[in-house]
This record gives sequence, structure tokens and C-alpha cells, in this order.
Amino acid sequence: MSNGLHFRPTRAEIDTDALRHNATMARKHATHCKLLGVIKANGYGHGAVEVAHAINGSVDAYGVAFIDEALKLRDAGFTQPVVLLEGCFSPAELPVCAHYDLQPVIHQQHQLDAILQARLVKPIAVWLKIDTGMHRLGFAPDEIDAVVAKLDRCPQVASITLMTHFANADVSDHPLNEAQLDRFDEICARTSPALSLSAANTAALLSSALDLGAQESQWCRTGIMLYGVNPTDTAATFSLLPAMKLIAPVMAVRTVASGDAVGYGSTWRATRTSRIATLAIGYADGYPRHAPNGTPVWLNGQRVPLAGRVSMDMITVDVTELAQVAVGDEAELWGPNLAVDEVAAAVQTITYELLTRVSERVPRHYK
Ligand SMILES: *Cc1c(COP(=O)(O)O)cnc(C)c1O
Repeated sequence: MSNGLHFRPTRAEIDTDALRHNATMARKHATHCKLLGVIKANGYGHGAVEVAHAINGSVDAYGVAFIDEALKLRDAGFTQPVVLLEGCFSPAELPVCAHYDLQPVIHQQHQLDAILQARLVKPIAVWLKIDTGMHRLGFAPDEIDAVVAKLDRCPQVASITLMTHFANADVSDHPLNEAQLDRFDEICARTSPALSLSAANTAALLSSALDLGAQESQWCRTGIMLYGVNPTDTAATFSLLPAMKLIAPVMAVRTVASGDAVGYGSTWRATRTSRIATLAIGYADGYPRHAPNGTPVWLNGQRVPLAGRVSMDMITVDVTELAQVAVGDEAELWGPNLAVDEVAAAVQTITYELLTRVSERVPRHYK
């Protein structure tokens, strides 16, 4: 949130046109499906309320992880359905779901017991999660018929959407994908055909290897593609546009002699007379501390390598190859000129982690 004054120029610029464009692309891919715009974790770091506004016209509902995130959307005036992907943590949340029209996932016996025993002012839509092979959340396939029967008879339940989640949708030829889909299809075929279904996240939607059999009653749950990232192992861009540009200013420039070391632990040592620029961003801002020497940073039209350990508030880069660099120049840590995928690969993590960990002290600027 950009409340209050920010004198330090470090910031995350959020391109709301890119968010809107990506949502349109998601809509295009999910031609016959309904679309759940996943904006948990503060809209993957982009600002949940602002993302919700930007993608408003393209999605049929919003997905968040838990009720606190949903209430932020209700407070901001959004009236669309909101799905709680982790469901409720206590029975006390169910009346809140009924009051605010929130749709919890039911993945555990205690959540099932709570809805069966609740007395709500009006029935709520629920999503029933099936564990088809990821083994993180959900009822086992052989429990589902009994659970559906109970929910069907429950006066607190307005509708049921059967859902599952893939463990390897980002690996197109992973054998578990087909196995999970087969299990899901088999359950869907034998339960009531009136139920809505939801299997796909972004990777499953974009993967040509998975035939999800698009139908009107099906929901695609798209998160990461809204932010401009293709999570699959194919090189295609799917015409997505990066929505976040993370920016930090150069705050100091110095020359170091060959043999001099830079930063904590002296992990980087100059092999020639070198120019070092210090940038005002560090791990307290969400830049990963484990980023190794050589991690690319975009500065004055080219890539420059990280040189030395990431500090709490600063990083240092080797700008010897740059023709020009001055205090106040602005570097891009990731964004349109340096894909967050590339940085994620360099620091051995995933784009999701980099985007969601941009901390609160980095103001978001919307355009
Ligand atoms: C976060 C989440 C998604 C969105 O996944 P993306 O890979 O970002 O598209 C979908 N489904 C569930 C259950 C999730 O938790």
C-alpha cells in the first residue's frame, strides 16, 4: 500500500493494463470455462484490491487463501463470489461466510462436521476438495461419495463444486498429471452431473498435454498468469505481460582495486579494477538473500551481475562494463526488461516466491 510518504525511490510499479491484458488472455484460454482470479497473498504481491479492480471484467469470481483476505475485498466493496481455497479454520467462520457470501473449500473432516452442524442465516456454496494424488489437502477418492451425499442433504449448502489440485501441472509430461485427471474424471462421472468442477490452475490451463474437457460448468483457477508469468516448462510466452517492475536507485558508486572484496563475508573479489554500484534494495525488501554472485540486474539498458552478498537494505552490482552509471540511476530487479523467471532461475526459486515476498516497506505504484 502506498499510504504515507515514501522518500526512498525504491518501489514496485504495477502495470494495471498488463493485469487487465493477462486476465483477457486467461479468459481466452479458458474459453468455455468460468474463471476464478486467484489473488491470494495480496494478489501475489501486486496488491489484492488493485488487482481485483484491474481484472474485474474478465473473471467470474475471486480466489483467496483464507477469510481475512476475503474480507479485505468485501471491505473494498467487491460483491463477486470469493472462494476460500484453504477453507475455514474454525466453525465460527461459517456465519461470516454466510453473511459475506464467501465460498469455503471443504477438505477435512472437521470442516465437514462444522457445516453439517451449522445453523446459518442462508445456505452457502462450498467447494469440495478431492485428494487425487498431491496428498496435501482433500478427501480421499473413496470418501467422496459419502461426503457428497451428506452435503447434498445439508440445508446449509447451496451448491457443491468438486475440485482437485495438480502437483506437477508445470511439468507437461509428468505421469501424475494424467493419473490425477483420470481419478478426478472418474469421481465426477459417478457423482451428480449437476455439480460444478474445478481442476486447473494456470499451468494445467496452459498445458496442451492435459485435456481438461472444457465445459460451461467448469472453473479454471488462474493465479500466476494474471501477473504475466508462464509457469509451464514450454518456452511460449502466451502473450502475457509482466505486471510488476521492481525498481531500486543507485545510491553509491565506487572503484575497487583488483583483489578487493565486496560486501559481507567478502564473497566477491575483483579480478580487475572494478566499478561497484550500491543499490537501495535488500532482503528486507524481499530481494532474496541467497541470490548468488552473478544474478542479473537490469541497469542503464543492460544486464549487470550481482557482486557480493545481499544485505538487509542494499545490494552491490559490478558495473565495470557499463559506459555510464551515476547515483540516482534506477535499476530494475525484475520486470519488462528482465523477466522474473530469469531471476527466479538464477536464485533457484520460483517466480511465485519472488513476487509474493516483496515486502510491505516497498511502496506499490499503480499505473
Ligand atoms: C494458488 C492456487 C491456484 C492458482 O495457481 P496458479 O499456479 O498461480 O495459477 C489454484 N488453485 C489453488 C488450490 C491454489 O491454492
